[in-house]
Amino acid sequence: TWHVQIRLQHPSGITAIPATQPRPDIIGRALRRLAAGLILGLGIAALHYLGQASYRVTGQVAWDMSLVAVSCLVGLALFGLALVFAGERNRGLRQLGAPLLIAAIVVLHIGGMSAVTLTFDPQVALPATAVAPATIAPVLAAVSFGLLILAFVGLRLTLHARAQQRQDQQRLRDLANIALEGLAVCNGEVIAAANHSLERLSGLTQAELTGRHLSALLPGLVVADLPEQEERDTELAAADGQTLPVRVLRKEVLLGHERQTVVAIRDQRERLHTEARMRTLAFTDALTGLPNRARLGDVLTHHAAILRESGRGFAVLMLDLDRFKFVNDALGHAMGDALLRKVAERLRSALSEEDVVGRLGGDEFAVLALGVQESDRPQRLAARIVEVMERPFLLDGQLVNVGASVGVALAPQDGSDPEQLLRNADLALYQAKAEGKARFRVFEPALAERLEARRTLETDMRRALKAGEFELHYQPLVDAQSGLVTAAEALVRWRHPRRGLVSPADFIPLAEETGLIMPLGAWVLRTASTDATRWPNAIKVAVNLSPVQFRDDRLPEIVEDILRETGLPAHRLELEITEGVMFDDEERTLMMLSRLKAAGVGLAMDDFGTGYSSLSYLRRFPFDKIKIDRSFVRQLPSDAESAAIVRAIITMGSCLGMMTTVEGVETAEQYAFVASEQCSQVQGYHVSRPLPSADFIAFLVGQKAAA
Ligand code: C2E
Ligand code: CA
Ligand code: CA
Repeated sequence: TWHVQIRLQHPSGITAIPATQPRPDIIGRALRRLAAGLILGLGIAALHYLGQASYRVTGQVAWDMSLVAVSCLVGLALFGLALVFAGERNRGLRQLGAPLLIAAIVVLHIGGMSAVTLTFDPQVALPATAVAPATIAPVLAAVSFGLLILAFVGLRLTLHARAQQRQDQQRLRDLANIALEGLAVCNGEVIAAANHSLERLSGLTQAELTGRHLSALLPGLVVADLPEQEERDTELAAADGQTLPVRVLRKEVLLGHERQTVVAIRDQRERLHTEARMRTLAFTDALTGLPNRARLGDVLTHHAAILRESGRGFAVLMLDLDRFKFVNDALGHAMGDALLRKVAERLRSALSEEDVVGRLGGDEFAVLALGVQESDRPQRLAARIVEVMERPFLLDGQLVNVGASVGVALAPQDGSDPEQLLRNADLALYQAKAEGKARFRVFEPALAERLEARRTLETDMRRALKAGEFELHYQPLVDAQSGLVTAAEALVRWRHPRRGLVSPADFIPLAEETGLIMPLGAWVLRTASTDATRWPNAIKVAVNLSPVQFRDDRLPEIVEDILRETGLPAHRLELEITEGVMFDDEERTLMMLSRLKAAGVGLAMDDFGTGYSSLSYLRRFPFDKIKIDRSFVRQLPSDAESAAIVRAIITMGSCLGMMTTVEGVETAEQYAFVASEQCSQVQGYHVSRPLPSADFIAFLVGQKAAA
């Protein structure tokens, strides 16, 4: 017989093996079973005829040899066939095995019995060795019975073992089916069985999966090359033509007596999705949906690398809302959040597609702008951002004006590493704020130098405060008519170990910014009060208050405490306050001034005429004195307009019952003019420069002597 083996070539190059392919060793096995049948037949025939030949009877035994031959041949053939059928896979054929075996035994038996003829002959005597039937019968019965019992026990054991095996297999299948991972048991690279998960994952049925080559399922992976117990990420080709990300693990196992490959396939969609989501969360600002600081840092690093390779420059714009704190404090955080979202939207729409805008935190945003080759794009962009932020935002039916300031740093001019660029943009932003907000500034190296200088100044100042390097100088204020000293203004100086005497103009603004003005201001108050206790009772001391000190609600208590401590009567202390504090919050200012007034100290409005001097302030607030700024005095008495202003202020002061002090009087003409205009006091270099405490006392003594 010729068996033609047919292999079908799949388009993918995978060989599919037809299910009906005859096994090449089937014939060999049948022949082996035939031989076994013949051997069995020969044994039984020998047993039968040996038994028959052992008969001992009182008579003659005659054999018909032809019948013996026929029974042997037919019997042997039937034995052979019986075993061939018994081993068949096909159930119908297999069931023929038992009847054929019985037939073979019957043929042997009947043939054997018919072949013998027994003739009685009393002459023939039974030999002495013959066993009596009465003896052999019980032995035979016992042996037969024993055999039957053995057979029965054997059958029970076999059935039990089979049931156990079936149960084990079912359990294994159930287990495999509960597994979340797809499992495939393979013969080599061909799937022999798969679990439900793999069916679900691939969209193929068990029948479709069985016989499929693994490479059709996992095109990107040669499973045989995958080291055992090592996981590998690849893609699974599903039935609907889609590919799914999976992780594959191979394991060699012994199932029954066969070595088989089990391939575990884990769905990675969920994990990858979660990871992607985590990545998004880690890199976006939850409030605005814009890239966050980390993401922006990455983008900057990326463009810095491009810059190094191709020289393509970019700009970093940093912006900060000017009045965000106000919105947040006055309207609540929810409104603040809503505002930030709107700001993000507006920013996005003001930029081009390729620019990246992110939120750095709080009300700080940064923009990475490309296309800066067209020379002034960053400037135009910054101006545009300032402009769009100027327009009011509509929040819950309210129009809110916030405005923004922008700092710009250019790469590579102002640095090429992201951190430096952000720092420089921040410096420029700081400068824009300092210059009055709602504007932009481009970074320049001088800004960094200035900031550096400020930083050293700040630490230096903290040290100086502890080291006692500050001192007070006093500038006399004289009665315009009598020329006698009636008060002195305390002016702080810093005796710096290296820089000598430093003017307050050089450190007061920084002290205000850093909050150092609080301890410094208290020191000035305490020292001035102490010094004044040593002066004649008629002489007052004037102390300058910074708007920052004025914003502290505890100021009246601090002043009262210091007066109590030093023993200076309250009416001898005068506080000089600039107009700057007036437009903070009128109600609060009024309240504060009233509390100070209630403490018994005098209040002077300093530098009147600069900034936003308003007559209404004078009426509204309880000042005792107006100090006319020295800028008006400088051009006196020649400049008619300055003269008119000074005259008007003096007149107005006296109408409101306030004293007037003219500051910065440097010449005798100026003195003569303001004295003739009936101002109350004069202060200026013409009278005296600010003097160290001891010199001031000497000045007083000198004046008394002159008088
Ligand atoms: P200010 O309150 O207007 O003080 C008067 C300033 O004018 C002083 O400058 C004084 O030396 C100067 N001056 C006085 N007479 C003349 C004159 O005839 N011609 C010219 N050109 N200038 C004259 P100084 O001492 O440098 O103080 C500057 C500013 O620093 C002060 O202006 C004041 O605002 C602030 N300041 C000084 N000491 C303190 C202080 O202890 N606390 C606070 N908060 N500020 C202070
Ligand atoms: Ca002053
Ligand atoms: Ca002044």
